[in-house]
Amino acid sequence: MARKKEAADFTARDWPEREADLLAPYAMRTKDSRGRRHAEPPHAYRSLYQRDRDRIVHSTAFRRLMYKTQVLVTQTNDHHRTRLTHTLEVAQISRTIARQLGLNEDLTEAIALAHDLGHPPFGHAGESALDLCMKTHGGFDHNRHGLRIVDFLEYRYADFPGLNLSWEVLEAMALRSKNTEAVEIREFVGAGRPLLESQVVDAADSLAYNTHDIDDALSAALITFDELQEVDFWRRAEHEVRQRHQQLGPEQFQPTMVRALINWQVTDLLHETTTRLGDNKVQSVNDVRLFSGTLVGHGPEVQSLKVGLEKFLHERVYRHHRVMRMAVKGARIVRLLFDEFCRAPELLPARYARKAENQLQRTVCDYLAGMTDRYAQDEYLRLFQPYTRL
Ligand code: MG
Repeated sequence: MARKKEAADFTARDWPEREADLLAPYAMRTKDSRGRRHAEPPHAYRSLYQRDRDRIVHSTAFRRLMYKTQVLVTQTNDHHRTRLTHTLEVAQISRTIARQLGLNEDLTEAIALAHDLGHPPFGHAGESALDLCMKTHGGFDHNRHGLRIVDFLEYRYADFPGLNLSWEVLEAMALRSKNTEAVEIREFVGAGRPLLESQVVDAADSLAYNTHDIDDALSAALITFDELQEVDFWRRAEHEVRQRHQQLGPEQFQPTMVRALINWQVTDLLHETTTRLGDNKVQSVNDVRLFSGTLVGHGPEVQSLKVGLEKFLHERVYRHHRVMRMAVKGARIVRLLFDEFCRAPELLPARYARKAENQLQRTVCDYLAGMTDRYAQDEYLRLFQPYTRL
């Protein structure tokens, strides 16, 4: 008869050793990590990727996600998604998928929590505005800026700049950038295809925002249930929901639909990914690296339903005049702040003013990208509205 496991069997073993029992052969293992830029002694009981996750959660950039736009500017109301709640949804969905596929859940969680750290205020409008401001100074994209935050801009540790995250988390952040020629990205492009843990976060990001953007757009009255009848994905999910629930009050209908859409997408993703892994005989991280395409993905049916949903979101939500007004105002604030700080760097807080002596535009860009929606609006008032409190 098998010996009953003692408490010591669980507590005394190192996590990397336990990973051997828990993870699928194609999962990234802590023992195979390329490690950190600055060598550090291992922690007594937290693994490499657990520490990455903890460092991200404790960073200033992570807390600021609370007041950064996802689609609706943060002050719109008190219960739509912000970058922070979006990030938490992505992390939670990613972990479910990773666990089910036998992937490294700690690494997946760390990648998910870091995936939007580099976002400036006012969402994609803020990002495009900043990119335009930086056009002749190296440009701006939130993925590259995320790397800059975790490598240099956070200053919480005595022994190194940034958060000194593991190579695998940095690689996942870098490979999200389309600009593979950029200096900070180049060191990460040679390893082959992204790890499955990273591919899972990409898929979870997309399915999370497609679904929650519909939810927020309905709650903010940008769209109606009637308009959603144009979307095949919605109509088919509604048919299934109505069959399952004969009685469904109006308050429960919307969240039930959101759950049904997430569940459909996650289940399909797991099914299709398992099939691709099996069909292509993926047996190791090396197989993942060398595979010619994406292994984590949806089947053709859900993929095409998602395309229809995204088209609707682009036309009816992201380009809705109320969303456009927020976007245009946000972009204007970013642009005006950028120009003003570049013109008069003495207006920058001391820590940035010192750095601006050597790298004016990049420093102003770092300062601006770090701002929350709220802080950027306050700075705008402090700089341009006469007689405000300093
Ligand atoms: Mg995201």
